[in-house]
Amino acid sequence: MKYMKKISMNSRNFKFIKVNGTDLSYRVERRNVKYPRLEFKAGELLAILPKNWKDETSVLEDKMDWIRKKHAEIQGGIDKIKTQGKGANSLLILGDFFEFRGDGPLEIDFDEKWVKYDYSNQNHLKRLTNILKKKLLYEIEQAAGEYNGKFGVKFNRIFVRRQRTRWGSCSSNGNLSFNFWLICLPRELIRYVVCHEVLHLKENRHGKAFWEIVDREFKNYKQFEKNLFEYWSFIQEYFRSSIPSSFVSQLSQNY
Ligand SMILES: [Zn+2]
Repeated sequence: MKYMKKISMNSRNFKFIKVNGTDLSYRVERRNVKYPRLEFKAGELLAILPKNWKDETSVLEDKMDWIRKKHAEIQGGIDKIKTQGKGANSLLILGDFFEFRGDGPLEIDFDEKWVKYDYSNQNHLKRLTNILKKKLLYEIEQAAGEYNGKFGVKFNRIFVRRQRTRWGSCSSNGNLSFNFWLICLPRELIRYVVCHEVLHLKENRHGKAFWEIVDREFKNYKQFEKNLFEYWSFIQEYFRSSIPSSFVSQLSQNY
């Protein structure tokens, strides 16, 4: 994991700027665009520059207030979720931090919310990942079946994969893919993501009609979007840091 991280950090060309007293990493991408712009994508700062643009310095300077504000929001989201956790090695499952009850034969209790496993044991990690994947798939299938009926559509197949860039996606042949890390989210948020993807079978684009239907299903959907962003930032932080006992880095080993 450590080595993987080093390689990917290098190949992705991270640079750093000081924001709110910490070093914030960012990436620069050259694209066929007219004007430069900044994006916080998946909790990371990305500077998109036109091909002939000199460098990102002026863009970062001009947008510093916006960067500071966004960064503070992300940090706030991470801290909010962290304060619910009891320690680095408790697992965040379906919105609850499961208590880590030490090594020993792998065991997980979804009702009492505790887990036992040895995180240096590859076999344990593999089995635990499979258990969580099945659990997530069950939650997704329940919700997808419900929204199929509601929206009068029919999905083809459902996949769960470990992804770094999004919670879910929908292909033109009706296959739905979901991010394994949805397992960290409360059920309501999982349902929200599933609703979004199933709705794409009916409404291709994120137009007015799309959000009207989302609003009908989830009255406070802007709050759901915000919560999704907070969880995303939380999980990304664990990808970036290499806290050896953290849930995400343990289960990312085969990533
Ligand atoms: Zn969408």
